[in-house]
Amino acid sequence: MTSFKQINSNIGAQKNEKILIVGGGVAGLMTQNRLESLGYKPVLVEKSDTLRTDGAGILLGANVLRIFRECGLEEELMRYAQPLKEIVSLDDQAKMLGRFDLEKIALETSYPTVAIHRKRLHEVLSNSVNQENIHLSQKVTGIAQRDSVYNVTFDNGTVEEYDYIIGADGLRSNVREAFFGDIPLRDAGYVCWRFVCDIPAGLDATSSSESWGDNKRVGIFPIGENKVYCFLLTSTKGGEEKMNFQEILNCFSEFQGDWQTIAAAIDINDTELLFNPIADLSRVVLQKEKMILIGDAGHATTPNLGQGAAMGIEGAYAFGELLKTNSMMDAMKLYPKVRFERVTYIRNRSWMIGKMAHLKSPFWQAVRNFIMRLIHQSTNQKEFEKAILGGAGNAGK
Ligand SMILES: Cc1cc2nc3c(=O)[nH]c(=O)nc-3n(C[C@H](O)[C@H](O)[C@H](O)COP(=O)(O)OP(=O)(O)OC[C@H]3O[C@@H](n4cnc5c(N)ncnc54)[C@H](O)[C@@H]3O)c2cc1C
Repeated sequence: MTSFKQINSNIGAQKNEKILIVGGGVAGLMTQNRLESLGYKPVLVEKSDTLRTDGAGILLGANVLRIFRECGLEEELMRYAQPLKEIVSLDDQAKMLGRFDLEKIALETSYPTVAIHRKRLHEVLSNSVNQENIHLSQKVTGIAQRDSVYNVTFDNGTVEEYDYIIGADGLRSNVREAFFGDIPLRDAGYVCWRFVCDIPAGLDATSSSESWGDNKRVGIFPIGENKVYCFLLTSTKGGEEKMNFQEILNCFSEFQGDWQTIAAAIDINDTELLFNPIADLSRVVLQKEKMILIGDAGHATTPNLGQGAAMGIEGAYAFGELLKTNSMMDAMKLYPKVRFERVTYIRNRSWMIGKMAHLKSPFWQAVRNFIMRLIHQSTNQKEFEKAILGGAGNAGK
């Protein structure tokens, strides 16, 4: 019979095994943080020559804040992040459709919901890991199994051996392709522009909103440091990638309320605009042999719940929790069991919200808005809390 002492020493011995994390985004860095906190020394490779500092704002729900507190990262994050008291749903004339009370969630759980500039989130995560274990400008181009190890090929022609691989290389993951072949992306049928600008005078820096119009949406999220993050979505008609900033502002000119204030104040010549066609992965894939996928690589979702990065963070945390009592191999096998249901729920719900937001017919849009106003506030709130807080049971606790 194996004694407890023997099991523990087996787990310890495996910390010498060579682990490769592919991708230095939110999911990869959080995974590195968790593994290093347990004494592992993974190597993280990132194809870019810097850790990503681009991107606009990002919403981080109470589920993420809970994990950041447990990992000792909350204080650093809160130096920059903006705690939000609510997300208000509006129609394009700024009339209320519903409201999510984030202060209530914070009071009940002690975890705030915040918005932050992405570059700050990346700074907090990259400052929390051992920089010596991060290798920049190294793109994984191939993975082949040889006996019990993987031969990993990089774009500079070098080949290195690893015992375990963690693919955190995003929506168009090379690691996923090496293990599962081509898994098509699923086009959501809408595109998104994002930017960050100074908060104009008169805007409430603690309140965020998302407005739904005719096949268009406008999101306004203050992110701290006197900045506001805006996202603009429209159903795809074709050619959106060619639109310039002024054409985009014209396209959303019917939206009333805070959007008018921002559109009037923004300096389009001095504001970086990001464009993304929205897609998710057609199915969830999390583990094969001695490899797991964390973050968008395994379970990319549409952004309608603001939970994509959150799922990567939850996944990295859950994997770390599994490693506290399991060998690397066993933790990898258990990882899909603790994450599949949660990421599937978020992906399905987010997809459905996207469909509702981009209903083609004005008649059905009116019916939708009527029903949204009718649904009691507490029902909306419960559904929202389920999505945001449902990770507690699945994050490995
Ligand atoms: C419009 C929009 C709004 C969003 N809003 C939110 C939000 O409010 N809240 C939220 O939680 N989520 C949000 N998301 C989702 C979130 O952005 C993603 O889920 C998250 O960034 C994914 O992180 P990741 O680390 O898995 O992947 P990525 O951020 O894509 O990182 C992957 C990294 O791997 C590197 N890489 C790729 N291939 C290789 C290779 N072969 N070798 C080495 N390195 C490689 C890349 O350079 C990159 O740095 C939003 C997404 C979109 C599109």
